[in-house]
Amino acid sequence: MAKSVILHLESVSKQFSGTVTPAVQNVNLTLYQGDILGLLGPSGCGKTTLLRMIAGFEQPQSGIITINERVVAGLHDWMPPEKRDVGMVFQDYALFPHLTVAKNIAFGLHNSGKKSSTQINHQVTDALELVGLSGLESRYPHELSGGQQQRVALARALAPSPALVLLDEPLSNLDVQVRIRLRQELRDILKSAGASGIFVTHDQEEAMAISDQVAVMRSGRVEQFGTPEDIYTEPASHFVAEFVTQANFLPARRRGQVWETELGGFELTDNHLFCGKVDSLDEFDRIDLMIRQEDLILKHDEEGAVIIRDRQFLGREFRYCLQTESGKELIARTTPQVTLPIGIKVKVSIAEDNLRVFPAISGEHQTKSSQLVTIR
Ligand code: ADP
Ligand code: MG
Repeated sequence: MAKSVILHLESVSKQFSGTVTPAVQNVNLTLYQGDILGLLGPSGCGKTTLLRMIAGFEQPQSGIITINERVVAGLHDWMPPEKRDVGMVFQDYALFPHLTVAKNIAFGLHNSGKKSSTQINHQVTDALELVGLSGLESRYPHELSGGQQQRVALARALAPSPALVLLDEPLSNLDVQVRIRLRQELRDILKSAGASGIFVTHDQEEAMAISDQVAVMRSGRVEQFGTPEDIYTEPASHFVAEFVTQANFLPARRRGQVWETELGGFELTDNHLFCGKVDSLDEFDRIDLMIRQEDLILKHDEEGAVIIRDRQFLGREFRYCLQTESGKELIARTTPQVTLPIGIKVKVSIAEDNLRVFPAISGEHQTKSSQLVTIR
C-alpha cells in the first residue's frame, strides 16, 4: 500500500521585512507517513524559518502548506500552531525549569482536549518509556544531563502522538559522544513511535545517519532532495558535492579524447556527468572534476606530483591533506593500513568510475553555451 502524505509544501516563500533576500524561496517538499526528512544546510540558509512556517510560528508570504490533507497555511487559509497536530523539539530543549519531568511532558497533553488525569499519567509513562527515562518522573530539568533533557523534550513532543514532529538542531548543544549515540536512539525512538518527522541539522553526517530522505538547502532554496545515498553519490550541484560529499574538485581541460588535470589525463564519458541540467560533455572544454576523498589511492613515489602535508588518525581511517604542484589542496581518506608519513611525495591514482563532471566555476570561460552556467 502506498504511504500517505503527511506534509506537503508548495512554492513556500518567506521574506522578513527589512531584509533584501528571502529567507525561504519557492520550497516544494513532500513527506510521507513514518518517514524522517533531514533538512540540511549551512547556518542562515533558512532551515529554522521553514520549520517555523510548518509549525505555524511564522506565516509564509506565498505558497501552500498542507498537513494531513488539511491546508494550514495558504492564500486564504491559516491554522494556529496548537491546532496543527505538530510537536516541536528545539535546540535548547526549552523545558520548564520549575516543572518536574512528568509535568513538563504532561504540559502539552492538558492542552489537547479533555482528558482524565489517569489518561494523562498513562501517556506520560508511555512517553518516558519510549525515550528510555522511566523512573525519572519527579526529577527537575537541572537534575538531568543535557542528553536526558533533550530526551524529555522529545518525550514531550511525542506524548500527544502528533502527526508530525519537528526537530530543530536538537543535538547541537550536546557533547560529540552523546550526540552520536543519541542520533541513533532518536531515529529508533521516532521509528518505534511510527512518527513522521523533520530533523534540521547543519551536520551532513548527522543528516545522513538519521534521515530516510534529505533536503539540502542553500540560500533559502532546496538544492537537492533524495535519499542519503543518492545525495552522497550523485550530488546535483557543486555546492552539494562540497557540502555533503565533501569532495575534492580538480580543474580539467579537454585535449582530444582526454581530459587533462594536474593528476594526469582521464577519459570521461557522459556517464561521468553530474545529475544536473546538462546533457552532454560536448558542452564543455573546461570542467571541474569531482573526486571523492575515499577515491584517491596513494602510493609512495618520490617522483610523484603530490606531497603529503598533513595526516590525521581518525580511528577507522586516516585523513591525508595533500598538496599538488600548483598548490591545490586535496583531501584523501584511506584505511588505517595506509600509513604514509608527512612530507613524502606520493603518486595518486583514482577510482575513475566515481568521478563526476561539474561545470567549471573557476576559470575565465565556463561552458561553450553560456546559458548553461547557472545551474540551480
Ligand atoms: P538557519 O536556521 O538555516 O540557520 P534561519 O531560518 O534562522 O536559518 O535564517 C534564515 C535567514 O533569515 C537568515 O539570513 C536570518 O538572518 C534571517 N532571519 C531569520 N529570522 C528573522 C527575523 N525574525 N527577522 C529578520 N530576518 C530573519
Ligand atoms: Mg536555525
